[in-house]
Amino acid sequence: MKVLVIGSGAREHALVLALSRDPQVDAVIAAPGNPGIAQIAHTEAVDASDAAAVTALAESLDVDLVVIGPEAPLVAGVADALREASFPVFGPSAEAAVLEGSKAFAKEVMESANVPTSAARVAHSPDEAAAALREFGAPHVVKADGLAAGKGVVVTDDFDAALTHASSCLEVSDRVVIEDYLDGPEVSLFVLCDGKTTLPLAPAQDFKRIGDGDTGPNTGGMGAYSSLPWLPAGTVEEIVDTVAQPVVDEMARRGTPFTGLLYCGLALTSKGLRVIEFNVRFGDPETQSVLARLNSPLGQTMLAAAEGRLNEVGPLEWDPRSSVTVVMAAENYPGTPSTGDIIRGLDTAGTLPDISILHAGTKLATGHSGGFAPEDAVITKDIAETGDIVTSGGRVLSVVSLGDDLNDARAKAYAAVEKIKWDGEQHRTDIAEAAAAGRIELASGYAAPAPQA
Ligand code: AMP
Repeated sequence: MKVLVIGSGAREHALVLALSRDPQVDAVIAAPGNPGIAQIAHTEAVDASDAAAVTALAESLDVDLVVIGPEAPLVAGVADALREASFPVFGPSAEAAVLEGSKAFAKEVMESANVPTSAARVAHSPDEAAAALREFGAPHVVKADGLAAGKGVVVTDDFDAALTHASSCLEVSDRVVIEDYLDGPEVSLFVLCDGKTTLPLAPAQDFKRIGDGDTGPNTGGMGAYSSLPWLPAGTVEEIVDTVAQPVVDEMARRGTPFTGLLYCGLALTSKGLRVIEFNVRFGDPETQSVLARLNSPLGQTMLAAAEGRLNEVGPLEWDPRSSVTVVMAAENYPGTPSTGDIIRGLDTAGTLPDISILHAGTKLATGHSGGFAPEDAVITKDIAETGDIVTSGGRVLSVVSLGDDLNDARAKAYAAVEKIKWDGEQHRTDIAEAAAAGRIELASGYAAPAPQA
């Protein structure tokens, strides 16, 4: 089986790694990929959101399955074009991808499917936004209604800051979503879907804020771990039964069946499970830790999903060890990142046991025409030589470990992080720390699901 993976981040690097472990997968091609992926797979330059170009590439490579990593190509209809050309595709249609593309649409689907989520108001003017903010009270939650790479959400106690964010969202969109605040720890559950059937992956938790102790602005994600020792038994089944399956059923009922990965972001609140958001693709960085633990063959499972045969696949098998992912980011991220800084220590870190170094915002310094990233890196500090790997984006690397438990996985991940250096590098030092120390508390009043018979 020949698999084409669309995308260029650490999530796609993790997908390529996991697909390569499937004995039925003979070849993985990534487009456009990145310098890290190019070390383990063939890469092809392509504009990931150009449906005609991606389809032409799939035809010329004669692939058996296309896996679409990021949301932008899905929203742009790349999966639809590939399906029209008869390729099995892991990824939803543009119509189904609106579950992520519009928070307001996601709320409407949840209401129809009776899925528990936070109360929300869709505001069309700053006055309506102010009224909704007052109605729910602090902490305030304001969400842009459109794709924002995880950065369109502001959670703050400051009414004026909340209203300012709402007003700036209304400058680019005719609506903004104001939500009731959800207390309690968060869980990310990835669910494979074939339009009818759902199959969950292992749960994970991610870290959205830039700073230790969940301080500073939201980012695309600064780290993750799996599994979750504090998660009550039966929670995954409860999420599938009360969230994922009802949403998949509702999307099918609407004539827009959902095929691909439904990312359920939830809070375990004092009132029970509540959906925070859906994404329509693998989450980055949770994917890095979840797939590190997957023992089942990923290519065959994704093909079954693409072909509507997920009911033939048994429960997935998992490495019992823990995985921790630490994201290393460029200076000034999540603002405009500094680029072109030489990354040192990759080889040393990459040879450490139970460590994978996954690339995202990296590029080869000079003399390379692989089309990985725009040729816009400004070499400001050391002069990069041909073959040096330099930073080219905000989130630069994911350092992923496997360990006997979370403490062991944390120690291994951070030992590798310490070996990698560039000017202005930043990472969180507290990824999985609270979970490893047994300090994650369920919200008081959270009713864990009844034990399975
Ligand atoms: P989203 O893009 O909707 O996932 O939001 C990004 C992050 O903001 C989430 O992972 C949560 O940490 C936080 N967040 C979003 N909605 C809420 C909410 N209703 N209550 C509390 N925190 C929230």
